Amino acid sequence: MNQETAVVVFSGGQDSTTCLCWAKQRYDRVEALTFDYGQRHGEEMNCARRIAEKLKVPHRILDLGLLNQLVPSALTRQDILVQAGEKGQLPSTFVDGRNHIFLSFAAIYAKQVGARRIVSGVCQTDFSGYPDCRDVFIKSLNVTLNLAMDFEFVLETPLMWLNKEQTWALADDLGCFDFVRKETLTCYNGVMGDGCGECPACQLRNRGLQAYLQHRP
Ligand code: ZN
Repeated sequence: MNQETAVVVFSGGQDSTTCLCWAKQRYDRVEALTFDYGQRHGEEMNCARRIAEKLKVPHRILDLGLLNQLVPSALTRQDILVQAGEKGQLPSTFVDGRNHIFLSFAAIYAKQVGARRIVSGVCQTDFSGYPDCRDVFIKSLNVTLNLAMDFEFVLETPLMWLNKEQTWALADDLGCFDFVRKETLTCYNGVMGDGCGECPACQLRNRGLQAYLQHRP
């Protein structure tokens, strides 16, 4: 076990919960950090709280309502429909710069608690076109944050090159497959676990899950 503190950017969804389990196996002390920017479903906050409690991880929720004022999207506004992006276009759930902002605030918090490690579930593989999920951006931001705060942060992205099937496999390797499947919320309609089955987030999640279940050892 690495004698370090890690801060995990945590939404209560499949990806960040898998990252939380991943960090717990690696680091002596782990904290979860959730950003509240007026998500469609308050249920997302409750879900994040519940998971952190069950995993016995200290949990902070920070208010980032400003993001919603700047960039209304389907994630924060009931009157915008959740839609997958047409060819070459970003989906209506896109919030410009969200990961950039989250990671920057996470770094400020991390430095205060003496944590060099910042863990995020961003992923380039199932790429919806979010530029600040790309590996090249994460590497660039890592350098920027280190210069901005004169601190040796290490941004860690264990899911960066995994597809959804491989993310389920990772959860299984970590011994948290059932926990992630039952306790997390990915669905845009606020349905826990396997979700509503209809929205783009559920479809992506369930495709990966079914693929993994077929080959599960
Ligand atoms: Zn759904």
